[in-house]
Amino acid sequence: MFFKTLLLTSCVALAITGMAMGKPVAAPHPWMNAQLSSDVRASLLLQAMTFDERVALIHGPFAWSFNNTPLPEGAIGSAGFVPGNSRLGIPALQITDASLGITNPLGLRLGIRTEEGATALPSGLALAASFDRTLAYKAGAMIGSEAQKKGFNVLLAGGVNLARDPRNGRNFEYLGEDPLLAGTLAGQSIKGIQDQNVVSTVKHLSINDQETNRQWANSVIDEAAHRESDLLAFELAIEGGKPGSVMCAYNRVNGPYACDSQHLLTKVLKQDWKFPGWVMSDWGAVYSENYALAGLDQQSGEQLDEKVWFDGPFKQGIKDGRIPKARLDDMVHRILRSMFEVGLFDHPAKTADIDFEADAQVSRAVAQDGIVLLKNQDDILPLARDAKRIAIIGGLAARGVLSGGGSSQVVAPGGRYVFVPLGGEGRVAEWRGMVYHKSSPLEAIKTHAPNTEVRYDDGRYPSRAAELARSADVVVVFANQWMMEAEDAPDLSLPDGQDALITAVAAANPNTIVVLQTGGPVTMPWLSNVKGVIEAWYSGARGGQAIADVLFGDVNPSGRLPVSFPVDMAQYPREKTPGRGLPQKTVFDVPHTEGAAVGYKMFAQTGAKPLFSFGYGLSYTRFSYSGLQIKGGKTIKATFNVTNTGKIDGADTPQLYLTDRLGVPVKRLIGFEKIMLKAGESRKIFMSADPRLLADFDAASNQWVVRAGSYNVTVASDADAVGLEAQVKVFEQKIKP
Ligand code: BGC
Repeated sequence: MFFKTLLLTSCVALAITGMAMGKPVAAPHPWMNAQLSSDVRASLLLQAMTFDERVALIHGPFAWSFNNTPLPEGAIGSAGFVPGNSRLGIPALQITDASLGITNPLGLRLGIRTEEGATALPSGLALAASFDRTLAYKAGAMIGSEAQKKGFNVLLAGGVNLARDPRNGRNFEYLGEDPLLAGTLAGQSIKGIQDQNVVSTVKHLSINDQETNRQWANSVIDEAAHRESDLLAFELAIEGGKPGSVMCAYNRVNGPYACDSQHLLTKVLKQDWKFPGWVMSDWGAVYSENYALAGLDQQSGEQLDEKVWFDGPFKQGIKDGRIPKARLDDMVHRILRSMFEVGLFDHPAKTADIDFEADAQVSRAVAQDGIVLLKNQDDILPLARDAKRIAIIGGLAARGVLSGGGSSQVVAPGGRYVFVPLGGEGRVAEWRGMVYHKSSPLEAIKTHAPNTEVRYDDGRYPSRAAELARSADVVVVFANQWMMEAEDAPDLSLPDGQDALITAVAAANPNTIVVLQTGGPVTMPWLSNVKGVIEAWYSGARGGQAIADVLFGDVNPSGRLPVSFPVDMAQYPREKTPGRGLPQKTVFDVPHTEGAAVGYKMFAQTGAKPLFSFGYGLSYTRFSYSGLQIKGGKTIKATFNVTNTGKIDGADTPQLYLTDRLGVPVKRLIGFEKIMLKAGESRKIFMSADPRLLADFDAASNQWVVRAGSYNVTVASDADAVGLEAQVKVFEQKIKP
């Protein structure tokens, strides 16, 4: 099938270039003139298309052999497919999931796509914890290039939903709780992907922040609060990355389904933000052809919906005059425009060998940069290489590192993953299982400390683990929380009795370090009994090595929390997950009473103290900030010095927060920078706030309003830290969205 696709693509290319052997040389299609703008090229091509050819572009199947239907002809086999058009030389859209690398659902289950797998990136939260724009770009470029070399040209990447609920099963795919951080990094990663001539989405628009009964959840949020939080993350990601496509979410937003929301898709996205690309639906999120009227441009995964709405029913809608023909043309124009803009016509995806070792180093760099050191009492870390006995306990550390489940699941090269099936109810049952990437922390630790006796206990019996712990100089416990798309954690405890395991081990040996591999925040009832805690997230293709690099100090930890870690769920507005236990198809409200005050902003408002604050993370060296100078006016500009006052090199992430506006306390991240400093080195840092971060959104006049007056800012190491402070005057300003 794949070979056939290649053949077809080459024939088309020949016809286009007018070089078909033995035939009269056809004039090249006018839209293949790369000197023209993408809009002009899209218009030229649109004019050449018949009605049926246009409609063929606005829907596509799940590219699986699904419910006994065969794999669609020409499809590689992945999340989605829209057939190409050989008459006009339109390449097929070969669409794959790619939140954390190129996925291969078929390879996992049916053995249809048995190619060598793909490089797994660490989780989105790990990338967000790096606070590193350059790395986000490189990570995107890496998966973009693997996509190209596998023949894919559309990636379902760019997840930017804010982590409003720490139990959300997909937090690990996304980029944390702050719109500036999430939007900036998503933008860079999308840019990295698209620079490889592969379209990226940004997803899921919007407020898709719980997985429990996600298709029937109605996210209720005030318009201004929405613009200042999740929508701002999307807006920044779109500005930074210019994604070819936006995926609308499963849930409803203030009433209508997100994919049927005139307000979100047409008003905000296409009118206010002038988004020129196309909106594709999430898989199984369309309930009518009339969604086109709200602004949806393409129905994806159509077998999952009750009907192929955007085929027969849509054509009928045009015939009846219910759907204007101009709407169809706009839909097609948007798809073609993005295809031209990103280079799908001029630089079609070509299969080629992938240098997995080089790509794994990108993954390792993200893991190293994103690991967060949360506690380091008595400088227990880095581990001494001459320790006599180290005990490693639990977390399947002997085999590999944990990854998250669902559509983002990557199968590593060779497909030799460890799969621990968990089962469950319904269709997802066979998918519910923990995949460990083959990068054993135990083996990596042994390599780092060849003269140390390193012993392992699987941690199933706390008493046996404690016995081993007692005999060691230092103990490293691996504690895992597996999270998956389509389900939320019921609470924030570590599953399978791991809290009790850690408590027993820490009682046996005070030199205990916990390495967390979690999909997001967890509670730590044992925190005061252990000396060290590392949050390794899901650490990807070379996670075991990255964890060992940090444990032994080959890498100085520099990750900072992109989400607050609460003491418990009582600190959050929705202590009980809305919709939990309700029968399917029962619509329910998820009241977002916190509004734009997500995560640390909510903590600042309520005065409650989290276990660990947003932005927090330790290093093996120390940094100090000095010499803050600040300028006001249209926005806030800050310069200050960061000094590495310790004895070893390390990276720091100074953060600029707005703390007070016109006498009213507030907490907003308005600038951040990741910088590497040699021991003793100082550097002057400059930050300029996007004025929207100083503003309120005024829904009535549909604009951002910066109010004139005094603004206080802090340069600090996290959202709760005491830092350098300054006050400045800011002018009034109104900004169109
Ligand atoms: C997910 C999307 C994903 C799509 C295709 C959906 O269930 O919400 O993020 O891209 O499936 O696999």
